Amino acid sequence: MTSGREKGGIHSGGQPGLSQPAHGVYNPPLPAGKPIGPGRVWRFLSMEIAVLVKQVPDTAEVKIDPKTGTLIREGVEGVVNPEDLNAVEAALVLKARHGGCVTVLTMGPPQAREALLETLAMGADRAVHLTDKAFAGADTLATSYTLGKAVEKLGPFDLVICGRQAIDGDTAQIGPQVAEYLGIPQATYVQEIEIRDGVLRAVRRLDAGTETIETPLPALVTVLGSLNSPRLPTVPGIIDACSSKDRLSVMNAADIGARAEKTGLRGSPTVVWKTETPKSERRCEMLKGSPAVQAQALAAILKKRNLS
Ligand SMILES: Cc1cc2nc3c(=O)[nH]c(=O)nc-3n(C[C@H](O)[C@H](O)[C@H](O)COP(=O)(O)OP(=O)(O)OC[C@H]3O[C@@H](n4cnc5c(N)ncnc54)[C@H](O)[C@@H]3O)c2cc1C
Repeated sequence: MTSGREKGGIHSGGQPGLSQPAHGVYNPPLPAGKPIGPGRVWRFLSMEIAVLVKQVPDTAEVKIDPKTGTLIREGVEGVVNPEDLNAVEAALVLKARHGGCVTVLTMGPPQAREALLETLAMGADRAVHLTDKAFAGADTLATSYTLGKAVEKLGPFDLVICGRQAIDGDTAQIGPQVAEYLGIPQATYVQEIEIRDGVLRAVRRLDAGTETIETPLPALVTVLGSLNSPRLPTVPGIIDACSSKDRLSVMNAADIGARAEKTGLRGSPTVVWKTETPKSERRCEMLKGSPAVQAQALAAILKKRNLS
């Protein structure tokens, strides 16, 4: 893990649990009456949590263009990336325990707003939609830069929570890259989270077993689906999310102070040369005879194909 260093969008990691007073006031302004309090006592008792969510195509609906081999996105319904719902749930549980505020951010086209409304209906306090033509065509580096800039602008935050991986892009790079950009510790593949006295304790899933790590806040975690069962939006939650305009803000590149040459296609060093769907050919050969004869025939076939 990297060690935390002070940066605009996050709290100082110094004394466990005692974060610096909030200096970055939310932009656009917070709804009236929301406690962002710079008071140390309040900060000690509460957590500012940012959750990054991505709208992805509903995989049950995904079709591949047979000519180009690319995803047909038009007309495909968007859903919140499944593990991002676990991230929202984790944030809401931590808020219930420690108090504070849950801010959900997404970078995406206009329709990504629907994903934010869903998280507001689940109980998030506010949502920020990062949308701008300048963000189009971003690879993971440009995406992470944009999200990192927004976290800096909207912060300070004690904790940033992401899903482990998006089901469309599938890289699992955004969380680690945002943590690196912010210069804060990160824990990936997290299946249990606990926060005590300003220290994050995370159980990470490994290939064989688990690993438990501790780090002071601020920190970033990427979470697995096994972490929790996301709550369903309630009807009052849905009505409130759709009607209260001040909980959802829209920000563009200028609002977050993003440099044009680092966002979107311009800021993306990755070049996709070719995409193709792997062909899998299967042949079936039925073996005849007694089990011993079939076993001999199978052994001969495997040997012939250098598979024995
Ligand atoms: C050259 C290039 C051009 C591309 N152009 C486009 C394009 O025009 N349009 C397009 O849709 N994609 C485009 N992509 C894909 C895009 O870069 C990725 O979808 C994006 O960077 C996220 O990567 P991922 O899906 O692998 O997310 P992962 O790293 O697998 O996601 C992990 C977690 O990060 C968070 N996260 C990821 N993305 C976002 C987001 N946008 N907002 C908030 N949180 C997020 C979520 O918590 C998620 O669970 C392009 C990729 C390349 C390489």
